[in-house]
Amino acid sequence: MKRMEKTSILICGGGLGGSACAIHLAQLGYPVILVDKACFPRKKLCGEFLGPDAMPILDSLGVLKSVLSVSNGPVQNIYLYNAAGKRLHIRTNWIRKDYPYALAQPRMVLDNLLLNKAKTLGVQVIEDQSIIACEQVDDLFFLTLNSSPEKLSSSCIVDASGRNSRLSALSRRGEVSLRDSPKKHHYIEKHVGIQCHLRINTETNDLSMFFFKGGYGGIQPISNEIANLCLWLTPELAQKIPLGLPALLEASISQNPAARPFLTRLETIEPFETAAGLHQLHLLEKSKKIISVGDAQLTVEPFSGFGMSHALRTGVLAAECIHHAFNQGYSYQESLAFYTTRYQQVFGKHLVSLRLGRHFLSSPILQKCLWPILPPFLPFLTALYR
Ligand SMILES: Cc1cc2nc3c(=O)[nH]c(=O)nc-3n(C[C@H](O)[C@H](O)[C@H](O)COP(=O)(O)OP(=O)(O)OC[C@H]3O[C@@H](n4cnc5c(N)ncnc54)[C@H](O)[C@@H]3O)c2cc1C
Repeated sequence: MKRMEKTSILICGGGLGGSACAIHLAQLGYPVILVDKACFPRKKLCGEFLGPDAMPILDSLGVLKSVLSVSNGPVQNIYLYNAAGKRLHIRTNWIRKDYPYALAQPRMVLDNLLLNKAKTLGVQVIEDQSIIACEQVDDLFFLTLNSSPEKLSSSCIVDASGRNSRLSALSRRGEVSLRDSPKKHHYIEKHVGIQCHLRINTETNDLSMFFFKGGYGGIQPISNEIANLCLWLTPELAQKIPLGLPALLEASISQNPAARPFLTRLETIEPFETAAGLHQLHLLEKSKKIISVGDAQLTVEPFSGFGMSHALRTGVLAAECIHHAFNQGYSYQESLAFYTTRYQQVFGKHLVSLRLGRHFLSSPILQKCLWPILPPFLPFLTALYR
């Protein structure tokens, strides 16, 4: 196995994971080429709640001030309503003392801001080009783009192409073997995500999460007039729902008595986006052949509001590991092994606790028992959540 050559590092995907990785590699002095199939600014299905854990990373990437300047101000309260409409109150300053707030940030703005930062640091960004094939010949990767006969090549690539990672999809279609028998290691989540922006009249930007039979949903104001509505439904419930927002709300979040007053104030301003076949929170796959960040590495349980922080943090972690690997003269395979170990050390326990947390909190029976007794323990439990 040869040590990696100092050619440009290729990143597939310019969402938060890909941009964070590109920015940090550029900060460390590496030439980077980033390819995204979309033209930015682009939409992204998301609850748009950016947890406190994202703030130190945004700070280290040099973008926190810009993000704060375009945000609707700090989110300081999270309200979790059990299926019976009983409320738990969580303060975001229990999660982190140094960055005691969350933000509600439209992805169109946030992702574009980070990608622009990467561009200003010299990252070559190729937009509107899809990676359609990936081959590994000896120690070099070759990426084929949809509308260019030329292939991009590098000894080091990073997969940041999101939860339906194109690179792993290619491997499933047998065009290139990037993972060993992926099905064996996957726990496929069949839930359906639904999201849209709605008009709302509100003076607060607190996050309200509502559990109901067949899923949960969040209402997160992103300005005084617009809120993000995001639902997470079991496939059984999603199949039953007729088309249209009123029917969707009626069959899902309206089941929760505490949500009804919010819903009367909502007015739709755009069609909703849906995403299905999402991966469940699962333990790290040992079969990955490519350094992967964000959702391409592991799709974090949406309930946790940790997906964006995870994407940013894994992007930076991958950049640090690649830097270390170049300094040590590692091959790509050794770099991947090093990153995988670091990933387990940094995120392993946290991911297991998120997984357990979702199961505990979303069971209606446990909710009934837990809601009255949890409040005194919440500061301690939310600090553990980090
Ligand atoms: C319903 C739902 C609600 C959520 N709510 C929240 C929330 O409130 N808070 C939170 O923190 N997280 C939330 N998440 C999770 C969060 O959205 C993701 O974890 C995060 O977007 C992952 O970022 P990423 O950079 O890994 O991937 P993405 O943001 O998906 O970026 C991947 C990029 O890769 C590009 N790409 C894909 N394939 C190719 C290809 N072949 N060639 C070139 N480019 C390609 C795409 O265009 C895209 O720009 C939610 C997720 C879901 C499903």
